[in-house]
Amino acid sequence: MIIVLKPNAKKEDVDHLIEKIKSVGLKPWISEGVERSIIGVIGEEDVVRDLPLEGFAAVEKVMPILKPYKLASRDLRSEPTEIKISKDVKIGGKEIVVMAGPCSVENRDMLIKTAESVKKSGAKMLRGGAFKPRSSPYSFQGLGEEALRYLAEARDITGLAVVTELMDIRSLDIVARYTDMIQIGARNMQNYDLLKEVGKTKIPVLLKRGMANTIKEFLMSAEYILSSGNPNVVFCERGIRTFEDFTRFTLDINAVSAIKELSHLPIVIDPSHGTGRWGMVASAARAGVAAGCDGLMIEVHPNPEDAFSDGDQSLLPEKFDSLMKEISAVAKAVGRSI
Ligand code: PEP
Ligand code: MN
Repeated sequence: MIIVLKPNAKKEDVDHLIEKIKSVGLKPWISEGVERSIIGVIGEEDVVRDLPLEGFAAVEKVMPILKPYKLASRDLRSEPTEIKISKDVKIGGKEIVVMAGPCSVENRDMLIKTAESVKKSGAKMLRGGAFKPRSSPYSFQGLGEEALRYLAEARDITGLAVVTELMDIRSLDIVARYTDMIQIGARNMQNYDLLKEVGKTKIPVLLKRGMANTIKEFLMSAEYILSSGNPNVVFCERGIRTFEDFTRFTLDINAVSAIKELSHLPIVIDPSHGTGRWGMVASAARAGVAAGCDGLMIEVHPNPEDAFSDGDQSLLPEKFDSLMKEISAVAKAVGRSI
């Protein structure tokens, strides 16, 4: 249910309404807009329906949210939501936020070197895996906490905000200690216990789409995080499995407009995993920006041939620099900036 508040609703009337909602065991979700504020009421359908909400002084009207994803839905909030990542980085506004860095943090020097170069090219965030979800148990699994320390050091040196993947609930505290944003990888998009745990924090979450998941399932996974109490969710389209095997995955550009239509939350495009081929990354990135994405996640490595993971799709720093120039021009053409 969505409660639209009167534009001039008194604070004591709003507080009284919130108390009433809580007293019957329902969760109010308050969204303060420029024009007017709304309260989303989520819980058992019958309990919500039986509440005499229209009678409260602060209430202008009450509308049902018919979609199964309620807090993620655009019905709840018609304006786009901006998610604050750090002191100077926000995703979901006019500026398109670029997060770049190696697939895996391999050692201190390569990370610092990559961070400094992507920063110089205009990236606002540093990506780097400390815990890696690999198809083979014999492949490099990540440096764990050592990598988190290097990421934090790279942030101190460059001022870039950091995003890194969390794979296991048991590592939540340690990952949260070092990062500005937690990435939930494609393989964990439907790990509901993990979603609920990150939902209990307020750390911004980059939720990557599972490679065989629908847009509706993607939205429902965001709903798990939101309904657990964390409003800071950013979607990431990173390619899905199709019959095509020339590319590693098929980047679903449609996800940008679909998510924009159905949700108020931002969406980032990952053209590195979405193509699996470094030569195709810039083209897919330009398409993502033209389609209206709010950010890009791009893998950059100082020496892709020797990368411990995803070398085939990683850009050399100079290629990344050219990509930044190309996407800046596209961003300008669609009324955005980088
Ligand atoms: C990654 O970002 O390196 C990664 C493993 O991504 P995904 O979960 O999309 O495969
Ligand atoms: Mn990768």
